[in-house]
Amino acid sequence: MDTARSALRLGADEVSIVYRRGEEEMSARREEIAHAKEEGIIFRLLTNPVRILGDEKFNVKAVECIKMKLGEPDKSGRRSSVPVENSEFKIPADVVVIAIGTSPNPIIFKGSEGLEQNQKGTIVADEETGATSKCGVFAGGDGVTGAATVISAMGAGKKAAKAIGEYLKGK
Ligand SMILES: Cc1cc2nc3c(=O)[nH]c(=O)nc-3n(C[C@H](O)[C@H](O)[C@H](O)COP(=O)(O)OP(=O)(O)OC[C@H]3O[C@@H](n4cnc5c(N)ncnc54)[C@H](O)[C@@H]3O)c2cc1C
Repeated sequence: MDTARSALRLGADEVSIVYRRGEEEMSARREEIAHAKEEGIIFRLLTNPVRILGDEKFNVKAVECIKMKLGEPDKSGRRSSVPVENSEFKIPADVVVIAIGTSPNPIIFKGSEGLEQNQKGTIVADEETGATSKCGVFAGGDGVTGAATVISAMGAGKKAAKAIGEYLKGK
């Protein structure tokens, strides 16, 4: 949502958000959706990108999309989306921004043996201190909670700073 609105403010002639489910299923805040519409963002709902089409110089020309329909609810409780056969179409485009959510970089666990992760791929840390399974390693913010807010990351940072201080004094 931020990317689309920023693109428009930076001078793009036309900006579309392509989203595979319907407006009801969008995880963005309601007011964000309303503001984006007010600003002129085009919502292409129940639409999924299939591939990006370019010209001979590798410039983006269009996004090939397919129409979707709503199916049964998935693990997130939101209705899943199912492709509608033979409904492919193209949206002309010269810039495509892939902004589809966030998850921690799995490389962090490769370089830190003994650092426990949960099923979502985030770091397991004590809520009060940020202490992880690895002695002397503290964590907080999105890397622990998954995508959340600045204020919760700052709160976790504050708690971890205190715990790190105590840890260092105890050494
Ligand atoms: C598009 C978008 C809009 C958002 N809007 C809002 C909003 O309106 N309000 C709100 O409260 N929150 C918003 N959020 C969420 C908010 O940005 C995050 O919750 C917050 O930034 C999390 O802070 P953090 O310190 O945990 O992680 P981050 O801010 O992601 O900081 C992690 C840092 O670690 C660095 N890093 C990663 N790997 C390594 C490495 N191996 N070595 C060294 N450094 C590394 C990264 O470069 C980054 O600087 C938004 C997020 C996005 C993506």
